Amino acid sequence: MSNLMNAKQYEESLRKLNLKVYMFGKRVENVVDDPIIRPSMNAVAATYEYTHKPEYEDLLTAKSHITGQKINRFTHIHQSVEDLVKKSKMGRLMGSLTACCFQRCVGMDALNALSITTHAIDEKHGTDYNKRFLKYLAYVQENDLVCDGAMTDPKGDRSLPPSQQPDPDMYLHVVEERADGIVVSGAKAHQTGAVNSHEIIVMPTITMREEDRDYAVSFALPADTDGITYIMGRQSCDTRKLEGMTFDRGNMFYGGHEALVVFEKVFVPWERVFMYKEHDFTTQLVENFAAYHRQSYACKVGVGDVLIGATQTAAEYNGAERASHVKDKIIEMNQLNETLFCGCIACASQGHREKSGTYLVDVLLANVHKQNITRFPYEIARIAQDIAGGLMVTCPSEQDLRSPETGKWVEKYFSARSGVSTEHRLRILRLIENITMGTAAVGYLTESMHGAGSPQAQRIMIARLVNMKEKQRIARLLCGIDAGDK
Ligand code: SF4
Ligand code: FE
Repeated sequence: MSNLMNAKQYEESLRKLNLKVYMFGKRVENVVDDPIIRPSMNAVAATYEYTHKPEYEDLLTAKSHITGQKINRFTHIHQSVEDLVKKSKMGRLMGSLTACCFQRCVGMDALNALSITTHAIDEKHGTDYNKRFLKYLAYVQENDLVCDGAMTDPKGDRSLPPSQQPDPDMYLHVVEERADGIVVSGAKAHQTGAVNSHEIIVMPTITMREEDRDYAVSFALPADTDGITYIMGRQSCDTRKLEGMTFDRGNMFYGGHEALVVFEKVFVPWERVFMYKEHDFTTQLVENFAAYHRQSYACKVGVGDVLIGATQTAAEYNGAERASHVKDKIIEMNQLNETLFCGCIACASQGHREKSGTYLVDVLLANVHKQNITRFPYEIARIAQDIAGGLMVTCPSEQDLRSPETGKWVEKYFSARSGVSTEHRLRILRLIENITMGTAAVGYLTESMHGAGSPQAQRIMIARLVNMKEKQRIARLLCGIDAGDK
């Protein structure tokens, strides 16, 4: 028995939502069919569709620890180190199948982080958050839902804590407590996959102190709850999608999106509240979510696979693939990409069991992995652009190739190796452009930098988690400063 949806069922489930979405200053009435949003919906739909392919089933599905049923791994709570390793491999696989952000990891990471923290809060404070959470999780798993994990607040004046902001909404907070639940206001920014989600799971974005208690709140809501508004973020080259299915879009099928999500006095019933003023657990929730999501950046390895494949193809179309420097640069791309893979596999394989039963990645290694992600994709992209050549950004549009007036010249002067059509050459260059400068560069580059925390956030964690005292102790012993056993 399983409730795994396929792509079509997922699409239909989204049509039933009544989301309040704005883009270019106007309400988007039909979100699912909007040409700018649609490729991002396709990418999430792929996380449904591929579960039904036997060759991917092992990575993309799991056995629910609550019901024993087969579920989509994106709704699974990791029950072993093997689960964690499969999660990393799933991220690479999906990245390599879509060449973009497929958006569903943030929800998976929020669920896993909450499974640990609700248990820990209950243990200390005698609350019943974990029971509520497990009930919610069962609902998500049974209905095979997409959850948007929402952590990043707008933050206002960065020098001030939440409770001292001139505008209290700069961090999402509780504005009213009622017998049946709470009312919240504020916003979450940069929300990946927001309008392709059935649910939104809110978590605090930083450690909260006693005076910030009203900001220490976590809960889940249906994405179309009254009072929630989505404002779509722009992406470089996004309006190329309005030109129809021209190959100038680069990736003909998939994309990602981010949105600002505004909560205007939104009611949350108690059974969907997973943290309420327990500021002493905000650090744990934030750090565990961050560690899981830093592991999730296995997705970039998959996008890197596509970029390397596209670069090799561009080199072959140009007749340049045998040049020794080109070969060497492709090796460099692969070495960097596989180094990234090492990081996400390492933090998974060194994972451990938390008291709740959930397996958590090695937090230090997850942070090191994400720190590498802030760098290597940029280097891989630089080499891709080097090999692709300037035509990637100077070539005329597909319409010029099709035009009766100019087509013959575009065809003639942009042809390269014999036997390779100019159109194919331009298509592969547009894909490289898309990943390194266009809509997909949001996911492959800038999100690699800032998603799951900007580089400095990982450096702080690395400084905190390495055992510096032990390193110094051995160094002092070995050079004779200290005497004693090693
Ligand atoms: Fe998943 Fe990667 Fe997108 Fe984050 S950036 S949601 S990890 S695909
Ligand atoms: Fe992300």
